[in-house]
Amino acid sequence: FLGNKARAQIQFVEDKQEFSRFPTKAGRRSLSRSISQSSTDSYSSAASYTDSSDDETSPRDKTQLNSKGTSDFCVKNIKQAEFGRREIEIAEQDMSALISLRKRAQGEKPLAGAKIVGCTHITAQTAVLIETLVALGAQCRWTACNIYSTQNEVAAALSEIGVAVFAWKGESEDDFWWCIDKCVNMEGWQPNMILDDGGDLTHWVYKKYPNVFKKIRGIVEESVTGVHRLYQLSKAGKLCVPAMNVNDSVTKQKFDNLYCCRESILDGLKRTTDVMFGGKQVVVCGYGEVGKGCTAALKAMGSIVYVTEIDPICALQIGFRLGFFSGLLGNKNVVTRDQLDRMKNGSIVCNMGHSNTEIDVASLRTPELTWERVRSQVDHVIWPDGKRVILLAEGRLLNLSCSTVPTFVLSITATTQALALIELYNAPEGRYKQDVYLLPKKMDEYVASLHLPTFDAHLTELSDEQAKYLGLNKNGPFKPNYYRYNHPSKIPLNDTQISDLCTIYLQWIPTATTYMFSLVQSS
Ligand code: NAD
Repeated sequence: FLGNKARAQIQFVEDKQEFSRFPTKAGRRSLSRSISQSSTDSYSSAASYTDSSDDETSPRDKTQLNSKGTSDFCVKNIKQAEFGRREIEIAEQDMSALISLRKRAQGEKPLAGAKIVGCTHITAQTAVLIETLVALGAQCRWTACNIYSTQNEVAAALSEIGVAVFAWKGESEDDFWWCIDKCVNMEGWQPNMILDDGGDLTHWVYKKYPNVFKKIRGIVEESVTGVHRLYQLSKAGKLCVPAMNVNDSVTKQKFDNLYCCRESILDGLKRTTDVMFGGKQVVVCGYGEVGKGCTAALKAMGSIVYVTEIDPICALQIGFRLGFFSGLLGNKNVVTRDQLDRMKNGSIVCNMGHSNTEIDVASLRTPELTWERVRSQVDHVIWPDGKRVILLAEGRLLNLSCSTVPTFVLSITATTQALALIELYNAPEGRYKQDVYLLPKKMDEYVASLHLPTFDAHLTELSDEQAKYLGLNKNGPFKPNYYRYNHPSKIPLNDTQISDLCTIYLQWIPTATTYMFSLVQSS
């Protein structure tokens, strides 16, 4: 990394604009300590295929051609394409909803003419989504939203079939922005749709190529962080195209966040640390959907789980579900240097949230602490008295950096993304304004119904009488749009009034994270 840092950097993270007030995945990358390219390559995040070559040449310095003679891509090694194709085929088996979308749309091509630029994790599951978009008529250019999560062989397989992919595992900060720029800045090609995960691509287009927005029909955003940035732009009156908030779709929240994390947290921890979970004391910070999933998995393995929360409603759920009061977030500095100082020797610290800001990793880069890389994505941070804390993926998203994620759950999110793109691309003029929207409930239900055949499930049908009684259409939507949404615009108080109320009533509540860490330390 140090070598790369010396190269000319595209300085976006320093901007003081509204976007940069929210931490980007890249935001802390410039603080990363030096690691060799080969150490990040030595085992691929999610693939069974492992690149054992010790080729340390930056993909940016290589000239590569696919079998059709095209060079409009930049991946680690195009020769890995065949391995990537096998990975994609395995993922397809559990993504039948996308395959059925391909079949249903045959001849129709609802994305004909769509030019989609995408910035997501580049994994076999995303490849099935991208290939579905292509089958529906779109042209795609793609880059990675995370420097560690790219499956190199999958990136190669996509490049081999003509999708312009700019991504590899173990990019530097400079590479990250260079890849985004290569995706957007192509002579004779201008995107008209954006699919983003985290908002970095959207941010780049806003800053560097604002004119591109004249042609953009819409943005589809998947992550909490990216959605946050879009709402901020909208509030400032600066959002110039409609945007679809996929993150808060029922199908994403109730499945991806909960089940994806429940199924993958143990895998990520095992692969990196070989830890035994039985009897371990674990503090989970935040009891949203991700926190609930992680807690369930850790408890099932016999760990003693303590959970911290700031929201009394989630805290009450902890009380009910765990039986004792003892939540991952998408916030910053939740685990501080002070807490890291007080942790026991051998404590494992990791993050399942989207950004790399939840754990204050920067505070560990001080002269008295020694960093020792012990495995790919595993660092020992050593205190002067010999105490070691094991830090995983430098505080970045554990499961996507260090293990695999369950394909079926990602299929639900990917199908929602595909439908959101189709909807925004085909919506008649005026249906969506320059604002952030949730997918209509009917579409959430459609995504779910496409996945039901996997369980051989058949829906109960409302009788006419029942439908009339409930005031519903027999074919859905089955819940009103306001059902269990706590949309900010529905709160009758403004931000200052809410903050006054909080100050008055909540002053006495202790900070749970601090309390829990002390509890675990003392026991
Ligand atoms: P959520 O909003 O449902 O839950 C976050 C919880 O953290 C909330 O209940 C909030 O009250 C609590 N919280 C915030 N600050 C806190 C603090 N300082 N101390 C204790 N609790 C605090 O969000 P979610 O759906 O659970 O997602 C959380 C994060 O995980 C996001 O960054 C999201 O992008 C990411 N995510 C990761 C994966 C993955 O595969 N690793 C999947 C989905 C989402």
